[in-house]
Amino acid sequence: MERGANREIWIGGEKLYGISDRVGFEIFVSWWKTIVSLGEGVGNCWFNSEVVRRVGNGASTSFWNVAWRGALTFRAKYPRLYSISNQQEACVREIGGSGEWLFEWRRRFFQWEEHLFNLLKEELEGVVWSPGDEDRWFWKLTEDGVFSVKSTYEKLIGLLIVEDRWWEDEKMVFGGISKSAAPLKVIVFSWKALLNRIPTKSNLRIRNVIPADASSLCVGCGRVDETSVHLLLHCDLAIEVWGRVMRWWNFSMVTPPNLFVHWACWNAMESRKKLKKVLRLVWHAAIWVLWKAQNNSIFNNGIGCSEELAEEIKVLSWRWAMHRVHMYPCLFYEWLWNTRDCSLR
Ligand SMILES: [Zn+2]
Repeated sequence: MERGANREIWIGGEKLYGISDRVGFEIFVSWWKTIVSLGEGVGNCWFNSEVVRRVGNGASTSFWNVAWRGALTFRAKYPRLYSISNQQEACVREIGGSGEWLFEWRRRFFQWEEHLFNLLKEELEGVVWSPGDEDRWFWKLTEDGVFSVKSTYEKLIGLLIVEDRWWEDEKMVFGGISKSAAPLKVIVFSWKALLNRIPTKSNLRIRNVIPADASSLCVGCGRVDETSVHLLLHCDLAIEVWGRVMRWWNFSMVTPPNLFVHWACWNAMESRKKLKKVLRLVWHAAIWVLWKAQNNSIFNNGIGCSEELAEEIKVLSWRWAMHRVHMYPCLFYEWLWNTRDCSLR
């Protein structure tokens, strides 16, 4: 996740801010979608409310379509005026660059539109230009206006904590998970799973996505209510899969009551930093593979056996370890037989 810190962020082809080297646009589009989708748990407006447009020379900010004066766009605040404007696509400079605001309208105002126009003009009083500066996005959560993953994480975790009161231990778990080198979508999924906010049958029923009389029994065993802790930890299949993964690493633990404790125990299995890092990847890979498997079973009539899933976890964690952690390259079979050695090279 640190990849995004102190670099450039591009949204829709436009730079949100920039300091040092440029990072690929595609990475951030998908990365960005994931960040914004975190809003599902905390209200969908969280992102927009933290970013503002600072107008410099006004050359790259749409007058009507970007919220550059307050939280709403002028188009949203004055739809009537927008509808009769001849400058719907104009940037701020095109309308106000000469020192006064020069509007062009399709027709003369009705009297009540005159009133709207006066309100708009009031809002435009005191606009300060700095012709030497480019317009830019400003991130409100940091002092310098530069986006950082850390500030976003703190903001979101703050929002989540308002909803539920967390124990200190649980906060530590969230902090640890966010440091994993697993892909962001997987980390986000883990957060949601810990909060029991993934679309399990019981959650879907609570949210009326499936009918109240539909079964909320586990897709795997059909015996217990399908919750995230059941699917990912307590269902027979999950127990078998974790068992195989633990045998691969040559350790064992009693299945804990929830994912928080599981993560904490899992992390305690290794004390060396490099191994911990890899072990976290394995944990995320296991959570991800288990979820995918149970999800697919709905469409494919069959979850797959624990042996296949454990194999998938080994492959996935190997791929992540090769591409996402600065690890010395190793072959897959080395990974299988000597994971610790591979990790410590
Ligand atoms: Zn089950």
